[in-house]
Amino acid sequence: MKQYETVIGLEVHVELSTKTKIFCGCSTEFGAAPNTHTCPVCTGMPGSLPVLNRQVVEYALAAGLAMNCQVNQRCKFDRKNYFYPDNPQNYQISQLYSPICHDGWVEIPSGEGKKRIRIHEIHMEEDAGKLIHDEWEDCSLVDYNRSGVPLIEIVTEPDLRSAQEVIDFLDTLRTTIRYLGVSDCRLQEGSMRADVNLSVREAGSSLFGTRTEMKNLNSFKAIAHAIEGERDRQIELLEEGKPVIQETRRWDDNKESSYAMRSKEDAKDYRYFPDPDLPPVVISDSWIEAVRLRQPALRGERAARYPRQYGISEEDAWTITESRNLADIFEETAKLCGSGKKAANWIIGETLRLVKEREADPDQVRFTPAHLAALIQAAEEGTVNNRTAKEIFEKIFDEDVEPMEYISANDLATVADSSVLEEAADRVIQANPGSVEEYLGGKEKVMGFFLGQIMKEMKGKADPKAAQKIVKQKLEERKKS
Ligand code: ADP
Ligand code: ZN
Ligand code: MG
Repeated sequence: MKQYETVIGLEVHVELSTKTKIFCGCSTEFGAAPNTHTCPVCTGMPGSLPVLNRQVVEYALAAGLAMNCQVNQRCKFDRKNYFYPDNPQNYQISQLYSPICHDGWVEIPSGEGKKRIRIHEIHMEEDAGKLIHDEWEDCSLVDYNRSGVPLIEIVTEPDLRSAQEVIDFLDTLRTTIRYLGVSDCRLQEGSMRADVNLSVREAGSSLFGTRTEMKNLNSFKAIAHAIEGERDRQIELLEEGKPVIQETRRWDDNKESSYAMRSKEDAKDYRYFPDPDLPPVVISDSWIEAVRLRQPALRGERAARYPRQYGISEEDAWTITESRNLADIFEETAKLCGSGKKAANWIIGETLRLVKEREADPDQVRFTPAHLAALIQAAEEGTVNNRTAKEIFEKIFDEDVEPMEYISANDLATVADSSVLEEAADRVIQANPGSVEEYLGGKEKVMGFFLGQIMKEMKGKADPKAAQKIVKQKLEERKKS
């Protein structure tokens, strides 16, 4: 068989986190009762007029700048005409002739080095409503709450070559957009949706093959499966001497196969024309500069800085920066407790463990960095032992308690008072003559057992170092006698 190369370009839709829709004041909130967030504009009533939401332009600009794009300082909206019940105007307001951003790039990890994926354009548009097919009642219902929710569509050049590169690209894109606060980019909930354009060609060829477009991909796993399945399907066709037909296909992740949805439509099929209801958007130099100044430090920049600034490993820096929220908490905690390493340990260890256990989103973790810093200090000074510190942290994670107040309210401070420890040690030694024998016979490992028993006696509050010292002393005395 001949060698083939896979060529992939993506069209990624991202729902913007604005409070209101793109052309009216309706709320964008997810999960409301059907058709409660609607008005004459977003249900396409005759005579209603769209008014552009300024925040949409700001978010599109922020995304474009983060992706190294050129800005079209006089961009326009166009009507994309088609009939479908989820589209009450019978057209979608989008941008074809002059999108807000164009000609950028995003760097993805690739083997040892990095690879640039070129961004063809980013344009603004409105989302459609949602059709709900009720099989029980044998009818279809429509919910217009999503109609008019702002989107940006990010179109790449056909620079991707494998499923892995596509996933790396989407992952980088998602992290960047989340850092900007422009969208939460949840594939499952549809706030990020990727269409995959794919063709194959003989290795070494400089011409592109005919591509198909795949829709309905709502997880990274489905995207990887779809890419592999479609590549194999196209190669098989070519090997049999049959042509690949340019069409839109729908991937069914349960059946692990795709089927043709419709022949690929062209821009001309949509009879695009400039929207007469919306004036051009004029973007001044000072507006761009203002957005640029507000850009946060992105993941790559922070991950590169942390090892120098906080003395942590590159790997740990990469883990912490996956979520901007965690990175922010980390930086603040490190500053307050004076140790980047300790702050990193608590973020990577306990925080991420609880995130996983609670199936939480790291961006939604809400505890006060000062509380973690105080806990780190308390553990450092021996006010609480490690095990208790972890229990207190769980309370900080869930309820954001102030650790010092919590320690005194629940009487959790360790006891280093030697008379109390001595009494406990005596009781334990008394009660376990067998283990004492073993120790005296040279089996030093039973020390762990003694410590455990003392902890139990003192309800976990013994200062382990002090306790160990005391038991050892007592046992050694017995050796001598
Ligand atoms: P259309 O206008 O038909 O939607 P575009 O030129 O806008 O086509 O391209 C849409 C997407 O398809 C882009 O992401 C682009 O990178 C990708 N693409 C274009 N040609 C190919 C090809 N031969 N193989 C794979 N992807 C392609
Ligand atoms: Zn509305
Ligand atoms: Mg296109």
